[in-house]
Amino acid sequence: MNIDGQTVDHLCRNRACVNQMHIMTCSRGENSRRMMSEAWQRVAADLIAQQNKEAQE
Ligand SMILES: [Zn+2]
Repeated sequence: MNIDGQTVDHLCRNRACVNQMHIMTCSRGENSRRMMSEAWQRVAADLIAQQNKEAQE
């Protein structure tokens, strides 16, 4: 999906997921870097874990 050169980056990498909190827009280049970055994968996992925790409280 592209919006004015932006691409949708899904934090949890689950395309079936519809949680808007997991969806960020970023440039294509940025998205590609994130896809390749283990550090970003960890950041995304932490964000999701935190959101899940907040949702339960
Ligand atoms: Zn998700």
